[in-house]
Amino acid sequence: MDTFTKSETPIHPALVLAAMAKLLSSRMAQKVTSLCVDLYGGYGFTKEYPVEKFYRDSKIGTIYEGTTHMQLQTIAKVLLG
Ligand SMILES: Cc1cc2nc3c(=O)[nH]c(=O)nc-3n(C[C@H](O)[C@H](O)[C@H](O)COP(=O)(O)OP(=O)(O)OC[C@H]3O[C@@H](n4cnc5c(N)ncnc54)[C@H](O)[C@@H]3O)c2cc1C
Repeated sequence: MDTFTKSETPIHPALVLAAMAKLLSSRMAQKVTSLCVDLYGGYGFTKEYPVEKFYRDSKIGTIYEGTTHMQLQTIAKVLLG
Protein backbone atom coordinates (compact mmCIF):
# COMPACT_ATOMS: atom_id res chain seq x y z
CA MET A 1 0.00 0.00 0.00
CA ASP A 2 1.18 3.52 -0.79
CA THR A 3 2.57 5.65 1.97
CA PHE A 4 2.06 9.39 2.36
CA THR A 5 5.61 10.38 3.20
CA LYS A 6 8.90 10.62 1.32
CA SER A 7 10.93 10.38 4.53
CA GLU A 8 13.15 7.37 5.27
CA THR A 9 10.63 5.83 7.64
CA PRO A 10 7.38 5.32 5.70
CA ILE A 11 4.16 6.08 7.53
CA HIS A 12 1.16 3.89 6.77
CA PRO A 13 -1.91 5.94 5.71
CA ALA A 14 -4.03 4.38 8.44
CA LEU A 15 -1.54 5.60 11.06
CA VAL A 16 -1.93 9.20 9.91
CA LEU A 17 -5.71 9.00 9.82
CA ALA A 18 -5.67 7.49 13.31
CA ALA A 19 -3.40 10.31 14.53
CA MET A 20 -5.79 12.90 13.07
CA ALA A 21 -8.80 11.17 14.64
CA LYS A 22 -7.16 10.96 18.06
CA LEU A 23 -5.98 14.57 17.94
CA LEU A 24 -9.43 15.85 16.97
CA SER A 25 -11.41 13.67 19.39
CA SER A 26 -9.18 14.35 22.41
CA ARG A 27 -9.23 18.10 21.76
CA MET A 28 -12.99 18.06 21.21
CA ALA A 29 -13.54 16.14 24.46
CA GLN A 30 -11.56 18.80 26.32
CA LYS A 31 -13.42 21.63 24.63
CA VAL A 32 -16.87 20.16 25.26
CA THR A 33 -16.24 19.22 28.90
CA SER A 34 -14.73 22.66 29.55
CA LEU A 35 -17.89 24.26 28.16
CA CYS A 36 -19.94 21.97 30.43
CA VAL A 37 -18.02 23.25 33.47
CA ASP A 38 -18.71 26.81 32.29
CA LEU A 39 -22.38 26.00 31.86
CA TYR A 40 -22.65 24.86 35.49
CA GLY A 41 -20.75 27.94 36.70
CA GLY A 42 -19.11 27.51 40.11
CA TYR A 43 -20.99 24.26 40.65
CA GLY A 44 -19.20 22.83 37.62
CA PHE A 45 -15.93 23.05 39.52
CA THR A 46 -17.22 21.25 42.60
CA LYS A 47 -17.57 17.51 43.14
CA GLU A 48 -21.32 17.89 43.70
CA TYR A 49 -21.82 17.41 39.95
CA PRO A 50 -20.12 14.95 37.60
CA VAL A 51 -18.93 17.53 35.05
CA GLU A 52 -15.69 18.24 36.95
CA LYS A 53 -14.78 14.55 36.59
CA PHE A 54 -15.63 14.55 32.89
CA TYR A 55 -13.39 17.61 32.52
CA ARG A 56 -10.51 15.90 34.37
CA ASP A 57 -11.02 12.65 32.48
CA SER A 58 -10.94 14.42 29.12
CA LYS A 59 -7.36 15.55 29.78
CA ILE A 60 -5.97 12.02 29.76
CA GLY A 61 -6.99 11.62 26.12
CA THR A 62 -4.29 14.14 25.20
CA ILE A 63 -1.66 12.10 27.04
CA TYR A 64 -2.02 8.35 26.73
CA GLU A 65 -1.82 6.23 23.58
CA GLY A 66 0.42 8.95 22.11
CA THR A 67 0.41 12.52 23.38
CA THR A 68 -1.01 15.38 21.34
CA HIS A 69 2.54 16.45 20.47
CA MET A 70 3.33 13.02 19.08
CA GLN A 71 0.13 12.97 17.00
CA LEU A 72 1.05 16.39 15.60
CA GLN A 73 4.53 15.12 14.74
CA THR A 74 3.10 12.13 12.88
CA ILE A 75 0.74 14.37 10.91
CA ALA A 76 3.43 16.97 10.23
CA LYS A 77 5.83 14.34 8.89
CA VAL A 78 3.27 13.46 6.25
CA LEU A 79 2.15 16.99 5.40
CA LEU A 80 5.64 18.48 5.35
CA GLY A 81 7.54 15.44 4.13
C1 LIG B 1 -4.06 7.13 33.51
C2 LIG B 1 -2.97 6.58 32.60
C3 LIG B 1 -3.15 5.35 32.03
C4 LIG B 1 -2.17 4.82 31.20
N1 LIG B 1 -2.38 3.59 30.68
C5 LIG B 1 -1.42 3.03 29.94
C6 LIG B 1 -1.59 1.71 29.41
O1 LIG B 1 -2.62 1.06 29.63
N2 LIG B 1 -0.61 1.15 28.67
C7 LIG B 1 0.55 1.83 28.40
O2 LIG B 1 1.42 1.30 27.72
N3 LIG B 1 0.74 3.09 28.89
C8 LIG B 1 -0.20 3.70 29.65
N4 LIG B 1 0.00 4.95 30.15
C9 LIG B 1 1.24 5.67 29.84
C10 LIG B 1 1.03 6.70 28.75
O3 LIG B 1 0.90 6.07 27.49
C11 LIG B 1 2.22 7.68 28.79
O4 LIG B 1 2.06 8.47 29.95
C12 LIG B 1 2.23 8.56 27.54
O5 LIG B 1 2.62 7.83 26.40
C13 LIG B 1 3.21 9.74 27.70
O6 LIG B 1 4.49 9.25 28.01
P1 LIG B 1 5.27 9.84 29.27
O7 LIG B 1 4.34 9.90 30.43
O8 LIG B 1 6.54 9.07 29.38
O9 LIG B 1 5.58 11.35 28.89
P2 LIG B 1 6.83 11.87 28.07
O10 LIG B 1 7.05 11.00 26.86
O11 LIG B 1 7.94 12.10 29.01
O12 LIG B 1 6.23 13.25 27.54
C14 LIG B 1 6.18 14.43 28.37
C15 LIG B 1 5.83 15.61 27.48
O13 LIG B 1 6.85 15.79 26.49
C16 LIG B 1 6.30 15.73 25.20
N5 LIG B 1 7.23 15.04 24.29
C17 LIG B 1 7.89 13.88 24.53
N6 LIG B 1 8.66 13.53 23.48
C18 LIG B 1 8.46 14.52 22.55
C19 LIG B 1 8.97 14.73 21.24
N7 LIG B 1 9.83 13.90 20.67
N8 LIG B 1 8.57 15.83 20.59
C20 LIG B 1 7.69 16.70 21.13
N9 LIG B 1 7.18 16.56 22.38
C21 LIG B 1 7.55 15.47 23.07
C22 LIG B 1 5.01 14.95 25.32
O14 LIG B 1 4.09 15.30 24.31
C23 LIG B 1 4.52 15.41 26.69
O15 LIG B 1 3.85 16.64 26.58
C24 LIG B 1 -0.97 5.53 30.94
C25 LIG B 1 -0.81 6.81 31.52
C26 LIG B 1 -1.79 7.33 32.33
C27 LIG B 1 -1.59 8.71 32.95
